[in-house]
Amino acid sequence: MSRLIVIGGDAAGMSGASQARRLNPDLAITVYERTSWVSYAACGVPYYVGEDVQELRQLQARTPAQFARMDIDVHLRHEVTAIDIAAKTVTVNDLDTDTISNEPYDLLLYATGARPLLPPIEGLDLDGVFQVRTLDDAIAVRAALAEPPQHAVVIGGGYIGLEVAEAFHNLHIPVTVLEMADTVLSRTMDPEMGELVATQVGELGIVVNTGTRVSRIIGEDGHAVGVEAAGITYPADIVVLSLGSAPNSALAGTAGITLGRTGAVAVDDHQRTSAEGVYAAGDCAEELHRISGEAVNFHLGTIANKQGRVAGTNLGGGNASFPGVLGTAITKVDDIEISRTGLSLSEATAAGFDAVATGLRSSTGSHYWPKATQMRIRAVVDRVSGRLLGAQIVGGPGSGKRIDTFAVALWEGMTGADLEYVDLSYAPPFSGVWEPVNIAGRKAASVLV
Ligand SMILES: Cc1cc2nc3c(=O)[nH]c(=O)nc-3n(C[C@H](O)[C@H](O)[C@H](O)COP(=O)(O)OP(=O)(O)OC[C@H]3O[C@@H](n4cnc5c(N)ncnc54)[C@H](O)[C@@H]3O)c2cc1C
Repeated sequence: MSRLIVIGGDAAGMSGASQARRLNPDLAITVYERTSWVSYAACGVPYYVGEDVQELRQLQARTPAQFARMDIDVHLRHEVTAIDIAAKTVTVNDLDTDTISNEPYDLLLYATGARPLLPPIEGLDLDGVFQVRTLDDAIAVRAALAEPPQHAVVIGGGYIGLEVAEAFHNLHIPVTVLEMADTVLSRTMDPEMGELVATQVGELGIVVNTGTRVSRIIGEDGHAVGVEAAGITYPADIVVLSLGSAPNSALAGTAGITLGRTGAVAVDDHQRTSAEGVYAAGDCAEELHRISGEAVNFHLGTIANKQGRVAGTNLGGGNASFPGVLGTAITKVDDIEISRTGLSLSEATAAGFDAVATGLRSSTGSHYWPKATQMRIRAVVDRVSGRLLGAQIVGGPGSGKRIDTFAVALWEGMTGADLEYVDLSYAPPFSGVWEPVNIAGRKAASVLV
């Protein structure tokens, strides 16, 4: 009987294990996961912190017992510490008993995810300083909120940092976001849109300070009391670090598996790595960007689940290819919806396109619809071919998911002119008779050289 070992028991690993099982009932499947959790929704952590989600168990899609019924053997608190690609074995440390064993595999799925980036500053080990990556982090933050903090500081203004700030805001805890870059969401949105988000989030009462590099976290008696940045001390009895993440690829790299230019594991379209029988999927693996044609490494649950399924199909004896990504993502802060797909203007320019961005102010309903809210759409277009390269949206309720229409247009290589006349839906509560996405297409078409 062939033996499949999966390293990492979350989105990519468990999608892969489940799909391999569906296709091949005879495969012996063992999953090693170093935390106490399997198949959990990290995406839900900010919403658990903010008490939108009450029970932690709601964030778990399936338990080890459920996987056991699928004949998938999940070992929690087991860390894989080495891979021997010549001998086809992994070294596993049982973290509870500190027992080390070498386990043989015929097939291996490397799905170790990403690790949070930490700032090189003092004070990270103080009580009251948290990350929001795992369910254990979620438990720790919720426990710290039992005694309501007076002031919260979130270091990092990416989408997770903003979601955590929203959580504190909803709990009526005064919160400040400190961001080193000149705008929030600087890695995913163009500065104009990031500034718009920062302004609107600020109007909610969440303080957003951009261009602010944190120099240390100040402690008293072992507990955080403030954050020092640019000569200013921000009071903080709870601090959340949210500076982005890097692929967990060191274990693979040490084993001699090829890493790509992004530092993540290089894979082909079947999720195969450079080592025979070894596949990789999720945050730890690269993917092809469908617009730039370059290998990228996005950390998104959407991609992890799909790559895991493709890997699992191939591991189970089927034949599937991963078609690449656009980096489509969405979030919200209170009623502000924020979404993006494809390339930002700077990314498009860096990728060699003669790119230009067009802007549009519009509304989520007809001008007379009382609940209509404002939205701003930005489309990035190749001035030579007219092809759409990216889009970003910031607006009120009902605006954000319009990004999916742009994503399909980008996926299919459509031009702005193509998008202008796509037959999209209309009724007054949903849009003007000219849907804003159609108008964005028209505007994009108007800037061709
Ligand atoms: C707070 C937060 C909010 C998010 N929100 C969204 C969202 O709204 N939308 C979206 O698309 N994405 C979101 N994401 C990203 C999404 O959660 C990740 O892309 C997804 O979880 C990646 O799945 P993965 O299986 O590749 O990695 P992970 O979920 O990181 O799982 C990898 C697992 O491998 C384990 N592991 C690592 N090394 C070893 C080892 N050596 N031995 C054993 N086990 C090991 C880890 O403990 C971990 O459980 C969010 C992430 C966070 C942290």
